Parts: sequence; structure tokens; C-alpha cells
Amino acid sequence: MSKPKHIIIVGAGPGGLCAGMLLSQRGFNVSIFDKNQEVGGRNRAIRMNGFVFDTGPTFLLMKGVLDEMFELCGRRSEDYVEFVKLDPMYSLVYDDRQLLVYSDPERMRAELERVFAEGSEGYDRFIKNERQRFLRLYPCITRDYSSLASFLSLDLIRALPWLALSKSVFSNLGQYFDQEKMRLAFSFQSKYLGMSPWDCPALFTMLPYLEHDYGIHHVAGGLNRISAAMAEVIKENGGSLHTSTPVKSLIIENGGVKGVKLTNGEEIRGDEVIVNADFAHAMETLVPPGQLHKYAAEQLKKRDYSCSTFMLYLGLDKVYDLPHHSIVFARDYRTNIRNIFSHKQLTEDFSFYVQNATISDSSLAPPGKSTLYVLVPMPNNDSGVDWETHCQNVREQILDALGGRLGLTDIRSHIECEKIITPANWERDEHVYKGATFSLAHKFSQMLYWRPHNRFEELDNCYLVGGGTHPGSGLPTIYESARISSDLISKKHRVGFKKIKQNLWLKKARA
Ligand SMILES: Cc1cc2nc3c(=O)[nH]c(=O)nc-3n(C[C@H](O)[C@H](O)[C@H](O)COP(=O)(O)OP(=O)(O)OC[C@H]3O[C@@H](n4cnc5c(N)ncnc54)[C@H](O)[C@@H]3O)c2cc1C
Repeated sequence: MSKPKHIIIVGAGPGGLCAGMLLSQRGFNVSIFDKNQEVGGRNRAIRMNGFVFDTGPTFLLMKGVLDEMFELCGRRSEDYVEFVKLDPMYSLVYDDRQLLVYSDPERMRAELERVFAEGSEGYDRFIKNERQRFLRLYPCITRDYSSLASFLSLDLIRALPWLALSKSVFSNLGQYFDQEKMRLAFSFQSKYLGMSPWDCPALFTMLPYLEHDYGIHHVAGGLNRISAAMAEVIKENGGSLHTSTPVKSLIIENGGVKGVKLTNGEEIRGDEVIVNADFAHAMETLVPPGQLHKYAAEQLKKRDYSCSTFMLYLGLDKVYDLPHHSIVFARDYRTNIRNIFSHKQLTEDFSFYVQNATISDSSLAPPGKSTLYVLVPMPNNDSGVDWETHCQNVREQILDALGGRLGLTDIRSHIECEKIITPANWERDEHVYKGATFSLAHKFSQMLYWRPHNRFEELDNCYLVGGGTHPGSGLPTIYESARISSDLISKKHRVGFKKIKQNLWLKKARA
């Protein structure tokens, strides 16, 4: 029997771990290197004084995709993590009303009737039509676009009428809902991609659709447990994980990647290298100058990137009676969006998201205490904002907003510990290009064939996984990127692998 091929993975984020899990299951010799002490990347845990926070992802959408990744490894996700389905999924707080959003259609209809004059008639049409769109588009999302031949597929041709190329998520919703506030309830999800609902392509109406038809999950102990579980599977399969081991550069010879050089000077050679580190950051810092053209430093600068986020993680000595997830809309939502994406400036009237996870998961904090995670969408670092100067001021504004908009008026006196991540920290400490937390913007000219390919087009023996490659940012799509790249590597080395009939989880989950 020939020696297993050695696959090196730069980064133990969700993309790197999922690829590591799939490839180690197929018998490849997998070595993963990450600069952090703990695995998970933006999906890792933050631990302070007995409190546990998720750094980034808190909504698990399309749980079925994650289940499939474990199934492909001959395992059940439930044996590794405990899922908690949330219903209501979240609360939406407007200046003049509040809406509880349910994945249960009966309760959702009743709530829309209660809150909006136009009632729930559009909701049924939304589900019916967007289900059709999603079922057409999903096969296109899960395929590889590393060559023009693979791009021109029957799946894509069938999906073309559903792409609604000229429409944004917001305008697409006009066919179901009249009032702007009603449309906001089904379009704020564009922010999951770090985009404005007025710019985000209509096909991403699949995000609210998926929430409503398939629901949202929390994971006991936080979503970081998913990354920890993937690391466990890799170890069970004999793969090796090297944390606190930053990669300094890729070793490139004759246009192909032959391995990695670590910051400790060691050189590790392999048959293929998978890059999971933030795409633009990795190309700028890990690839020696002169090797890239399309994605050379000056070209990377010209691309469009997502917004950033200001994060406030609070360990509190009490538990507030607040839903698990709350999204609070700026009083003037359109102006807030313009300030983030067009003017790239700070504003006092901002939208924000609050996770009060302890309300459904007491394991996250000591008894009687709680964690509060606050995310405020911010311009990315093209803004030129000096975060050293503005950090404390923004913190105070957020605490005021928690009081003014959610009634947590005494919050300052209950803070036991806290951590802040500014857009500058995302770039400097977390290695995220321009602090654009959701990577390259998801506009058509940067999607599918036009997003950096899973089999990286500029370097041989190099594959990409994570938010910066196809299909894009968000946990389920990142897992799909890992599946696409792992399948390409397996095919190249003629290693057989298990497949699961597409769309099976979609039917199972809705049944
Ligand atoms: C605040 C926030 C909230 C989010 N919320 C959600 C959500 O609710 N649901 C959802 O589905 N998605 C969400 N996302 C989006 C997305 O799912 C996550 O960002 C996800 O963690 C990205 O995964 P990734 O695999 O692309 O890379 P990352 O998580 O960024 O992992 C990359 C890894 O590479 C490592 N690395 C970088 N450079 C080097 C180097 N030189 N050497 C070694 N290692 C290196 C890093 O340390 C890191 O561990 C959120 C993102 C953020 C930032």
C-alpha cells in the first residue's frame, strides 16, 4: 500500500477543521497549524473568570449540513455536541414595536398579525416561493467552480431564472411585503454576510427563508463546541493539530506550494496545502511577493469587502430576562446602513445584536450569573477610524443603548468582567484583512466562478477553505467549502470517499 499523502492545513477555523476531519477520515495524513492556543478561529471560545463566550458565530443555520459532515466521517454530530433548537428564534426590536420571530408557522402568522397592519398573507407566499428558489440554487452552491467547464453546469442553467440578477434582497421582498419594517424582518439577515439589504443579491433571500423553514440552533456550551468536536474527530482519525504554531509563509517552488515555513523556522513539507487563514490576509502575508497576479497585494486592495464589527463581551453578576437572541434596529435604519457601507463613519444611532445565551444555557456562566455578547456592525478599516481613540466612547454608547433600547438600565453596576474586539483588533490580532469580518463581499462579481477558487487558481497544490472562497461566509457554507476542496484533493489522488445524496437533509429536516 502506498504511503498516505500528507495534507497541511493553515488555520484551525471551521473551514480548516472540517476539511481536516473529512480528509483524515479518508486516510490522508493531516497536519493542521494554527497561531492561536485554541482551535476554532473566529468560532473559538473566549473564557474569562468562569464565563464562556463564542467569539463570533452564535446562530447555527442549516444544521443538516453539519450533520452531513459528521455522517461523512461515520459519526453522529449528536454524539459530540448537544443541539438546542430555539423557538422563538429571536426578537426584533424596532423604535415603535417588537416582533418575536418563530420558525413554527402558526405562531409566526399570529405574531405578524399582532404586530403588522398588513398581517401574514405575504409570509405564506414568501415561504412557498423562496423554497422553490432555494431548492434550485442549493445544488449550485455546493458544486465546485474551479474551472469554466465546471461553472457552466445544468444546475446553474436551471437556476438562472431564480437568480433575480437585477434585484437586491430588499427589493425582492417587495413582492411579498409592503411595509419597510415588515421587509426589515426578512432582510436584516444580509448582515450575516456583512452586507446591506439594499445591495445584497436577491438570491440571499435564502437566509431568512432557511431560518423560517429549518430553524436556528444553539449548541450547549456555545457554538465553539462544534470546532472542538471536529478537532476531536481529527485526533481520533490520527491527524495532528498544532496550536500556538503560526505559519510564517508558504513554501513555493516552480509555481506550486510544497509546504509551509513556521515562525519557529521549521519547514514542513506536504503533498497539498490548504489555506484556511483569512484569504486576503493570507495572500498578503504568507505568499512571497511576485508569486501572485490576480490576487497580488495591489489587486486585493481593489476588491470589495464586508463590513466589520465592534464586539463587547460582558460577564454579568445577574441574569436578565431577555430572549436568547435580540436584534435592535437603529431608529433610522437606512442612514445607519449608509454610514457603515457608503460613508464608512461612526454613528450614534446604530443597530446592534445581543446574545443572552445563559437564558437557555446555564453552563456558560457561574450560577446566578450570565454572559452578554453584543455585536455592532461597523465600517471595515477602509474607514480610517482610529480605534484607540474611539473604543471607550463606543463602549459607553453601547451600554447606554442597552439601557435605552432594551431596558438594561443598571447594566454598568453588574459587569464583573469584559472584553472588547474592535475592527482594528480583528485586523491586528485575528489576522482579518481590513477587519472585514465576513470576508470578500458577496456580490455577483465576487461569487461562484468569480470568488477565489477552492482549487486555488494562482498556485498549484494549493486549496482554499473558509469564508474567502466559494461558497462564502457563514458556518454551513464554510463546511461546504471544506467538502468541495476535500473532494477535489481526494479525486486528484484517486482516494475513494463516501457521498451523501444531495438534498437529503433538506427533506429530513422539514419532515
Ligand atoms: C462576529 C462574528 C459573528 C458571526 N456570526 C455568525 C453566525 O452567527 N453564524 C454563522 O454561520 N457565521 C457567523 N459568522 C461568520 C463565520 O461563520 C465565521 O467567521 C467563521 O469562523 C469563519 O471561519 P473560517 O474557517 O473562514 O476562518 P476563521 O474562523 O477565521 O479561522 C482561520 C484560522 O486561521 C488561523 N490563522 C490565520 N493566520 C495564520 C497563520 N499565519 N498561521 C497559522 N494560523 C493562522 C487563525 O488563527 C484562525 O484560527 C460570524 C463571524 C463573526 C466574525
